[in-house]
Amino acid sequence: MTFSDLNLSKFLLNALADAGMEAPTPIQEKAFSVIMSGKDVVGTAQTGTGKTLAFLLPTLRMWRFQKHRFAQVLILVPTRELVVQIVEEIEKLTTYMNVVAVGAYGGVNLKVHTAEVMQGLDILVGTPGRIYDLALNGAFKPKHIQRFIIDEVDEMLELGFRTQLNNIIDLLPQKRQNLLFSATITQEVQSIIDATFNFPVFIEAAPLGTPLENIKQWGYKVSNFHTKINLLQHILQDKESYHRVLVFAPSKRLADLMFEQLDPSYPEEIGVIHSNKSQNYRFNSLRKFQSGEHRILIATDLVSRGLDLSDVSHVINVDTPEEPENYIHRIGRTGRADKTGTSITFTAEKELPLLEAIEALMQHELEQIAFPEEVAISDLKIPEEEDNFVVKNVKVKLDMRSKGAFHEKKKANAKKKLTRGEIREQRGRKKQRKKRKRR
Ligand code: ADP
Ligand code: MG
Repeated sequence: MTFSDLNLSKFLLNALADAGMEAPTPIQEKAFSVIMSGKDVVGTAQTGTGKTLAFLLPTLRMWRFQKHRFAQVLILVPTRELVVQIVEEIEKLTTYMNVVAVGAYGGVNLKVHTAEVMQGLDILVGTPGRIYDLALNGAFKPKHIQRFIIDEVDEMLELGFRTQLNNIIDLLPQKRQNLLFSATITQEVQSIIDATFNFPVFIEAAPLGTPLENIKQWGYKVSNFHTKINLLQHILQDKESYHRVLVFAPSKRLADLMFEQLDPSYPEEIGVIHSNKSQNYRFNSLRKFQSGEHRILIATDLVSRGLDLSDVSHVINVDTPEEPENYIHRIGRTGRADKTGTSITFTAEKELPLLEAIEALMQHELEQIAFPEEVAISDLKIPEEEDNFVVKNVKVKLDMRSKGAFHEKKKANAKKKLTRGEIREQRGRKKQRKKRKRR
């Protein structure tokens, strides 16, 4: 099977040849004709197996020039970096076509995107908040959308974009094709599919939750955060094998702390990225890591989804991810396409149940490596590791209650007569805000 066996135009075939791609991956092959038939499609395949092209190829094959130049295709993704990546992918595939794709995301003046969209386009790629703003100010005309694509939707929901997502869906015309691709499908995503998709065809390239065979998965049991940093210091000394290392940190604050601790030992080799950094800083960190200028990138889950980083030799999880699905996405930043990679996960005693959940989801046990004797065990504690950490939180809440904040809130809820669903949604949003803070 090669790309020429699919019903592609010579323009697309030439662009694929330029990119050195010859044969479709299994998800690309399976999804192509079903998407071409116009049906709604939910596609699942492991990380790094080419889901982007699985929806882009048929989308571009079905593209027709239209005089009005309003967007015909809307692609929603959770992060700004992913917007840029997908726009670049479209540009690569349309070298020989007249397709205009515009990417829009927060953190840039709305006027800039408004002007770009008003100039006319075929495909709009963006984060939900910015797309909704563009619909509200009239630059983006949702009623012309023929195809609606959501990539990495579970992350979108994690980041608390549910309301914006629903708002955008409400503006789209009834008659449209819906496509959704992911490596994992959570229950909440399933409920969105049930509510918005029209008899979707489910296409699966491998059972959900299957990790990639070309990623070696190792683990270390480590007593606490500062010891984890010591171990990291030690591991990173092997510059030859650890030549492009993506290190996941548990939170923005700890990402910065790790950077401060490691940077003196590895000057000019480390970058850091999280959502509190400016957009320029974020793009720069990624660029330096991709170009090889930096060997190490410390990141929050901001980059755990969808980003196609090339040749990452190792993914190191300094924390064991709370959601087992997230583990799969994180390690999926290595071992992409036909490459191999290694993931290493540090697990403190408190995190053992999280590790068990991950292993249960994958039906695969991480190979545990003995803690190296030469690495110092630290007895320093970060606030999160203090025994009274949780207690402190409860205290704060109680203080709030005594000041009446708790009751005021309750009253406000009563006034609006929230339905059970709305209350549940509010609770979910609170949880999401907490998660968003970490990134
Ligand atoms: P996913 O969304 O499944 O995680 P991506 O769509 O980001 O994966 O693709 C991962 C990598 O594989 C990208 O670098 C992409 O260019 C490459 N790729 C995709 N399809 C093919 C193909 N048919 N042949 C070779 N490489 C491919
Ligand atoms: Mg993807």
